[in-house]
Order: sequence, then structure tokens, then C-alpha cells
Amino acid sequence: MDKEELIKLVTRRVIEKMKDYDTHKVPIGVSNRHVHVSRQDLDILYGKDYELTRKGDLKQPGQFASNETVTIRGPKGEFERVRILGPVRKQSQVEVSKTDSFRLGIRPLIKESGDLTGTPGLDLIGPKGIVSLSSGAIVALRHIHMTPAQADAFGLKDKDMVEVETFGERRGVFGDVLVRVSDQFALEMHVDVDEANAFSLSNGDHVIIRKER
Ligand SMILES: [Zn+2]
Repeated sequence: MDKEELIKLVTRRVIEKMKDYDTHKVPIGVSNRHVHVSRQDLDILYGKDYELTRKGDLKQPGQFASNETVTIRGPKGEFERVRILGPVRKQSQVEVSKTDSFRLGIRPLIKESGDLTGTPGLDLIGPKGIVSLSSGAIVALRHIHMTPAQADAFGLKDKDMVEVETFGERRGVFGDVLVRVSDQFALEMHVDVDEANAFSLSNGDHVIIRKER
């Protein structure tokens, strides 16, 4: 191959990659450890009929970071000021990273949000009371939120698993990324702090979806 052909080939590859990047790119949202609480548990933690107050909106419509926090305590250790995300949910759920789990002394399962069967519990400590969850601590299964229209454009459907390629100084590929489709969602890939740090990703960085091979 002569030099000119090589330049043409490289150019074509770069253009293909850019096209791929434009049509498959997804912004990253890094989730630090956080808590979702049920109405009943919030009554115990913050007092009867207490309403969460809004600190800031999350990218997912209707979801918000509240000003309220709790201490989460496991058999070996605890974290203070763990943020409650609103609104209240059907059941309380604690999302931690694998690294957090070692300090807490629990062995959480990697689970899709809301699927709490067989998960370990933790104590939630609020200003008004303590809730001892018998289950509910998970390491969230990494996933991408998208609307039905976005799923169509990507050629994907709810519960598909995809690979995701990341860029930058710790480039890599995430396998087994769950696709979640709802008209209540906005396009965003959620990873925890361990996953973000392993790939040097920050909020708002872009990654691209690759077809499962
Ligand atoms: Zn999410």
C-alpha cells in the first residue's frame, strides 16, 4: 500500500468512527452512593409526613437530589451524609459501590434497581430514628436510560444488553450494559464511582454504544 492509499484508508476509518460516535453517543452520569426511601421509612428517619426538600434536579425527569441525608451503617463500618434521592419509592434501596461494600462489611449483589431479592440489609440512621433494613443494599447494574424514540434510533429495545466503548486516558469497553427504555427517561448511562474511576470518566463525558458481538 502506498502512502496515498494509506492516508485514504486512515481518513475513511476516522470518518466511519466519527459517524459511529455521532449516532451512538451517550452522556455518562456517575452515581455516588445514595439512598432511595419508602414513605414509611422516611417517617421513621425524618418524622411523620416529612417531605424531602429539593437540592437539585437529576437528569432523569422528576428525579431529584434532596437536601436530606442519612448515615448508612453495616457490620464493619459506616458512611455519613449519604444523600437521599427523591421522590419516595415503594421500597427503600441503598446503592453503594463494591469499594464501599468492603468498608461497610456487606456483600451486595450486582442488581438492577428495584430487584432486591436476596440482597443484604443495612441500618439507615436519620435525625429522628433508625431503620434496620433486612434487605435493600445493591451495587447497581450499569445501565443506559433512553426514551422509546432514542431506542428506535439506536436499533435497541428495553432489556437489551450492549457493549459501551469509552475514550480518554483509560480507554476501554464495558460489557453487559443493560438498556432501559421508558418515556419517563432521558438519555444517560449510569455507572458507579468504581466504574467511573476505572475508566477515568466524569459526569457528562460521552461514550458510544457498540452492537453486542
Ligand atoms: Zn439509572
